Order: sequence, then structure tokens, then C-alpha cells
Amino acid sequence: MGVHGLKPFRLCLLLLLVTTSLHCARESSKKDDGTQNTGGGVVFNSTKEQVNEALDLALKLATEPDMTKNVFVQFWKDWGQGDKNESIAKPGHLFTRAETTAKAGNEVAPGERFESPALMALSRDKVLRSDKDCAPSATTEHTDGSVSSLTIDADVCFSVRNLMRLPQSSLLREILSLVLHEAVHMGGGQEPEAIAWQTLFSRYFGARFGDLSTDIIAAETLKTMGVARIFLAQANEYAGVNNQDPRTFAQMGKFAQALDSLPELRDPLALELKLKPKRPELIAEYSKSVLSLVQNIRIKFEVHTDNLRVNGIRFPLQFMPPEKVVPSLNEISVRFEQINELFLRMAGRNEFDKPTCVPPDGNNVMPIPFRQADTDAFPPKCSNEY
Ligand SMILES: [Zn+2]
Repeated sequence: MGVHGLKPFRLCLLLLLVTTSLHCARESSKKDDGTQNTGGGVVFNSTKEQVNEALDLALKLATEPDMTKNVFVQFWKDWGQGDKNESIAKPGHLFTRAETTAKAGNEVAPGERFESPALMALSRDKVLRSDKDCAPSATTEHTDGSVSSLTIDADVCFSVRNLMRLPQSSLLREILSLVLHEAVHMGGGQEPEAIAWQTLFSRYFGARFGDLSTDIIAAETLKTMGVARIFLAQANEYAGVNNQDPRTFAQMGKFAQALDSLPELRDPLALELKLKPKRPELIAEYSKSVLSLVQNIRIKFEVHTDNLRVNGIRFPLQFMPPEKVVPSLNEISVRFEQINELFLRMAGRNEFDKPTCVPPDGNNVMPIPFRQADTDAFPPKCSNEY
């Protein structure tokens, strides 16, 4: 039971009124996602590989065991818990436990505890990818996904062929919403509840991430870093002539601001989905490095500027003695270039591959503190082959 399409809302509600069946089929003549299904044939807008890739990613996101990073938990916290729909605001079928606030009298930091057997069940080997419609049903309509029962042990099916009608730009959004629909069923939710979650999540996803087919994050990041590099160079120039030149501090303020405005710095999931990095495991390190550098600059340079003069009396240079200005700038420059390299390495696109090799003796090159799992040699060693 529980057979349904992606956007079957109106028809589905109608069906529920006239039948007691859980079955819910996709409208066959005209759809509002811009594709047609003209009875005989479906217009394919995505390839089988693209659908499988999106499905892989959707299942990975859905089963993220760190619940604070799980996209459905984030969705519920952001939008779900305040929703008018009781079945979403009190998410018994999706989360057996959903706590975002501390209990009364608890002085300790608020706990965030979520448990979702239904989501975790999707990581078990019970997901079938079909080249046909999912689950035979009384209707001859196409079906995109289904569950074998409204239980945690249900078999789940996704019709790869049917999902190929979706345009690539909305593939992940629609499939992730469909995965949520099925998870709500596995938690025991009926069709209207599953559709309500699916619909609201799809809106949330669009609002938070936008159109994922436009790949501008990498370009924006590199552009912003280029601007930041100019501020830093100017600061270096001023300080080189006079280490008490106040313009140095102004430039460093702008530099920190530019770094702070790097795209999706505080939303690792958005960065992952929009950048589609080759090395997503480096995202956390990238964000952390940038934010820590920004903080470092603000302590050293911005606080200092604010305290330059009080009532016309020059304050002693507590935060930044003049002789430390140039060494600090050098250290910041090194860290900045490391961040730049880290980003390129994380993004891992051919168009950004600028093999900045180092001589084998590698003097003066500070290694980037990658994790142990980082096996490739970096920076690449110079080779006679080039
Ligand atoms: Zn359903």
C-alpha cells in the first residue's frame, strides 16, 4: 500500500474522499512540474545516472546519523515545529523524540535530541530502485515511490524510470521530498500526513537552497577571495612603510569583512549541495579556518582601531605593538593562502586546478594541516614530466 506520485496533491485528496485506499497516483495528462506525460510516453528530462546520483545523495542526507546535521531535523526546527499542521508540529510519525529546548529547571545548555527510526531504516538494505512503476496497484497510473506497509520494516521502492521525467534542476529537491514522504509512511503516517510533510519540505528546500543547477558558489568564492587579497596587499604595503599607519587597520577591517561574506560560510549543507565539492569532508575545516581567521583579525586589528584614541588621548597599543604589525600580517597572509588552497582542493574542479607545485626541498612552504585521511600529496611535488 501507499503508492504515490511526486505532486499528486489535489488528485490524491480527491481519491481519499472517494476511496478508502491509500493508493495515490500521479495525474496522467498534465503536470505542474513542466513535464508532460501524454498517456503513452513520458518525456525524460534527466538521465538514469542523474536520478541514481540524486537518490544516493537524498538517502545519504536523509540518514545522516548526526541529527543536528540531518536536513529533515533542520527542516523541522526551522519550519516544522511552528507549523499549523498538528501532525508536523508534533512529529510523532517521523521522530520518536524531538527536543529542542531544555527542560524546566535545567541549567545545562539546551539539549537537542532527535531520534528517528523511520529515517534510519532508510539506510538498511530495503530500498529498491525500479526500472518500472513501483508496487503493483489497482490503478494503472504511474507511481514514483511506495512502501510495502506503514511500518518501520517496510520495503521501500523508488521508480528511477519515472523520476527521470523531473528536470535536473529540481531532481534532488523532489526526490528528497519523496524520501521524506516514504519515511513518514514507515513511521506509521497516512497519506495526507505524508503529503503534508512532502509539500512543506519541498518549499523549505527551495527557500533555503534555491536552484541547485546554477553553479555560482565557486566563482563567487574565488571572486571574494580576490577582493580580500587586494585589501590584504594594501594593508601590507601601508605597514611596510609605517607600521603605525592607521590605514593598515582600515584595510584589515575590510579584509575581515570580505572573508566573513564568503558564500555559505555558516551553512555547510548549503555549501555541499551548491558547490558539489569533490572533497565534502573538507567543508567543516574550511569554514572553521575562515571563521577563526576572521576572529583573529578582529581581535588584533579591529579592536585596536576602536581604542586608538579616547578623549583625544592615545591609548597604549595593548593589542598590537607596532613591531608586531608586520609579523602579524605575514602570519595572516600565510593562513589566508592556506584557506585559498583548501577551498580549491575541496572544490576539486578541473577549472580550478592550478598545480602550484613546490620544490622537493619545499623550503618556506607551510603545510596545510589536512586530516590524516587526506592521502594525496599536497601541495603536489614538482615533477620533470611537466
Ligand atoms: Zn504515500
